[in-house]
Amino acid sequence: MTVTDTLVPFAEAMERYEPVIGLETHVELGTRTKMFCGCITTFGAEPNSQVCPVCLGLPGSLPVVNRTAIEYTIRIGLALNCTIAPWCRFARKNYFYPDMPKNFQISQYDEPLCLDGYLDVRLDRDGHGGPDAGGRQAEGGSTRTVRVGIERVHLEEDTGKSLHVGGATGRIHGAEYSLVDYNRAGIPLVEIVTKPIAGTGADAPVAARLYVTELRDLLRSLRVSDVRMEEGSLRCDVNTSLAPRGASEWGTRTETKNVNSLRSVERSVQFEIERQAAVLDAGGRVKQETRHFHEDTGTTTAGRSKEEAQDYRYFPEPDLVPVAPPAEWVEQIRAALPEPPAARRARLRAEWDLSETDMTALSNAGALDLVAGTVAAGASPADARKWWLGELARRANEDGVELTALAITPAQVARVSELVAAGTLNDTLARQVIDAVLAGEGGPDEVVATRGLAVVSDESALTQAVDDAIAAHPDVAAKVRGGKAAAVGPLIAAVMKATRGQADAARVRELILQRLNS
Ligand SMILES: [Zn+2]
Repeated sequence: MTVTDTLVPFAEAMERYEPVIGLETHVELGTRTKMFCGCITTFGAEPNSQVCPVCLGLPGSLPVVNRTAIEYTIRIGLALNCTIAPWCRFARKNYFYPDMPKNFQISQYDEPLCLDGYLDVRLDRDGHGGPDAGGRQAEGGSTRTVRVGIERVHLEEDTGKSLHVGGATGRIHGAEYSLVDYNRAGIPLVEIVTKPIAGTGADAPVAARLYVTELRDLLRSLRVSDVRMEEGSLRCDVNTSLAPRGASEWGTRTETKNVNSLRSVERSVQFEIERQAAVLDAGGRVKQETRHFHEDTGTTTAGRSKEEAQDYRYFPEPDLVPVAPPAEWVEQIRAALPEPPAARRARLRAEWDLSETDMTALSNAGALDLVAGTVAAGASPADARKWWLGELARRANEDGVELTALAITPAQVARVSELVAAGTLNDTLARQVIDAVLAGEGGPDEVVATRGLAVVSDESALTQAVDDAIAAHPDVAAKVRGGKAAAVGPLIAAVMKATRGQADAARVRELILQRLNS
């Protein structure tokens, strides 16, 4: 066993070492066309069907900057409290990789579009920021917000995708041959680089995850990307270093590449802390290198040793003019920024009168926008939450999809809620209506009409059903007559069955008791 295979338990590592983390997040912008050509960017298209001479890097082709991509990047920069450069340039980053047809990537180097911002991250956002079962202790007193410095936000182009065929793992090792798909080559990619995040102590793994969570929510609110980690439109590289407590210098960092879920962000930091602590304990030195995270085991393994910037031979891109966004344009973009997610959560929590825990549950379920839409369409916050976190969450869970993927709109849920409040539907019928809407049978009103699902309010029909039930259950009727009102259940059940659930149970109870006690 080599020294790198040894781990120090997390809590023990925290007694001796202080971690510093940093995150580089790549976001594929949701522009209709690519960064430097007019090819469309639809995800999942036939391989190599969305390519042209420019994004294939054919000789003589010339790039033209996508204005919308610049606008989206400025929007991101402003939302992250950055300064927007009045003038900046693209740069060529020279390296070879088969999925990069030009043999260089157009990126930005020493002149990024956005500089020097920050994002505030609440560590107790999901209740995991404080002491937990793992023995972690909150550090830094009572403050639970970490201000994460943003070093830069720059714009570049994405690479294509290699597909390694014939091996067991899908990796290049052991593969028989590789295929390459250039549909993704040239899609605008924004890289958001944090400054080193120090002082989070044992909260470092959680802080890393919550930073990416907050950033994802922010990007989603800006409508610049669909931020789907599972489809690769949001990808993270996570830097971790350890230094002995009280040391004046930070340790050597490793960079864990392409960590593809929020949970993996947290796990990769925790693993690197445990691994690096073992290296340092044994008197070794942490190697500056890239590492790969393995979802199945939660471990990282060594990749290539990290190149220096000079290895890329950056120089200003000669085929593009500089970018100089006019100040008025930047101010227009700033004026149109949406309310930041954290402020919006706080406002809605107050308006809906929810506890922090309830709000977190709503947020974590991905139901915040859906509930907000349902309330905006007229439902009460309590009803909107009840449907989305209850029946609809159950349905989404059964189908293994996100709530947003369900075939029902907030307005339709608000309508169902309204029909219940008006007494037209009871909860059982409302669930049937929701089933039918999800099955594509139309909107709530249409379903109520075509399926005849309204609550029976015709008193003569109900009275008949009550009389039938009493006649069919003479023993129960006798008990109730004898004063045991609590025994009325089987009679109510019989009436509900006779009306196929379409009666108001409270009204049925009332009618039965009137009948038997008069
Ligand atoms: Zn193209």
